[in-house]
Amino acid sequence: MNTETVNGHELKIEIIRSARKTISLEMKPGGVLIVRAPRRMSEKAVMDVVAKHSLWISRRLKKQQELAEQAGKETANVLGPEELKKLKKKARKVFAERAAYFAPLVGVDYHSISIRLQKSRFGSCSAKGNLNFNAALLLAPAETLDYVVVHELCHRLEMNHSPRFWREVERVLPDYRRQKKWLKDNGSLILARCGVV
Ligand SMILES: [Zn+2]
Repeated sequence: MNTETVNGHELKIEIIRSARKTISLEMKPGGVLIVRAPRRMSEKAVMDVVAKHSLWISRRLKKQQELAEQAGKETANVLGPEELKKLKKKARKVFAERAAYFAPLVGVDYHSISIRLQKSRFGSCSAKGNLNFNAALLLAPAETLDYVVVHELCHRLEMNHSPRFWREVERVLPDYRRQKKWLKDNGSLILARCGVV
């Protein structure tokens, strides 16, 4: 693996040779550039291609660094025991309100709501209609929290993630995909802030 410095960012270059005809570049986390190159291409020719893409590479490195800094900032902001207690208390109130609001819109009822702080999931719904929500969601945007509430309520209609299930979610929350993506991108961050890792 070669190491270079691009605009002050450290770049590790790994060249993988195979029977391919073209060259491809892929940026991996941690400033690692994977270069897939034809077996017989000279190292100089490979590095010329890399140099030609230096603007793209430095942009990707910068983006990676920004994300790492952001994650560092967020995880530094970990809640203490007292704040976590308050968060759970508030979560009980907020989820009760949001579930009561959305249940008639979905057209379902539910049995009970419990609040937890756990790593494995942001919400669940049992066959008996017991809803379970993660208090960490209070650190997410309100629309994202609503998405999880609607998601679990829709499991009262469909206990799976079939196209019918997602159609129902979409009917109530047309922009649910954005919230789903937010959770995918930031879910581990809000769990980390609650000390759930
Ligand atoms: Zn689900």
